[in-house]
Amino acid sequence: MTDGRLALNDGRVMPQLGFGLWQVPADQTARVVREGVAAGYRLIDGAAIYGNEEGLGEGLRGMAVPREQVFVTTKVWNDRQGMVETRRAVEESLGRIGLPQVDLMLIHWPCPERGKFLETWKALIALREEGKVASIGVSNFRVSDLERIIGETGVVPVLNQIELHPRLQQAELRAFHARHGIVTQSWTPLGQGKSFEAAPIRAAAARVGKSPAQVILRWHVQLGCSVIPRSTRAAGLAENLDIFDFALTEAEMAAIATLEAGERTGPDPASFN
Ligand code: NDP
Repeated sequence: MTDGRLALNDGRVMPQLGFGLWQVPADQTARVVREGVAAGYRLIDGAAIYGNEEGLGEGLRGMAVPREQVFVTTKVWNDRQGMVETRRAVEESLGRIGLPQVDLMLIHWPCPERGKFLETWKALIALREEGKVASIGVSNFRVSDLERIIGETGVVPVLNQIELHPRLQQAELRAFHARHGIVTQSWTPLGQGKSFEAAPIRAAAARVGKSPAQVILRWHVQLGCSVIPRSTRAAGLAENLDIFDFALTEAEMAAIATLEAGERTGPDPASFN
């Protein structure tokens, strides 16, 4: 777990820690990607809706390591769900990024009212068979959504990217993922800083000599999750990478578990369409 790599259920391997491109301005994305890779990141989380896939591609072409060493994720947005639309959306993303294949393609939200996520999943299965995407997964899926796509297709997503931080610990989904070999990937892992001052975080930070953000990211890693913090500051990018030289104790993990508050910072997947 501490080597920073996670095995996927399709035989591939991904870095555990990456950085996200949400709200990174399009004209700064290439620079942020180059700097992130130079700092040591090998996983980049993009999405069509972030509006910066061109910058992501430009950054990948300008980086100092071979393309194969960086794991690139992007996502199909809600209004592109469905068999035909998803195929078009994936091809457009590949065109914008300028790659023949991305490492991981996710369905961004289940959008239950649209009623199209199963079709969308089937489209991703076909695109994987054609080699346009190496691995396929989902984001913001609930247990019932996962049961549906697995039950209907027999294909288990490699990963589910969900809101997860100390105030929303997602125990039920994490247990389901563990049973099915699905990687849990945490979005908004720092929870908008709302737990930075909490006693269990401060105590652990003081003991290990790290920042509250580093303690929280380490907590994700020790839960076995992949984690994708975002920072537009070079110091923040470096700080968030520096979490593999210490460990939280079982007592510290248990103390952080008590911070669960059922508190979302983002939309509820049950009603977001
Ligand atoms: P984060 O938890 O990564 O928080 C980012 C905020 O924390 C920024 O304000 C940043 O400010 C600050 N920050 C970062 N590092 C530190 C640090 N070491 N100390 C103090 N503050 C810090 O949340 P995001 O909501 O940005 O989520 C991360 C990624 O998750 C996104 O970029 C995106 O890729 C993904 N995501 C996916 C969603 C989905 O539906 N699948 C939804 C939302 C996000 P500063 O820049 O100043 O460092």
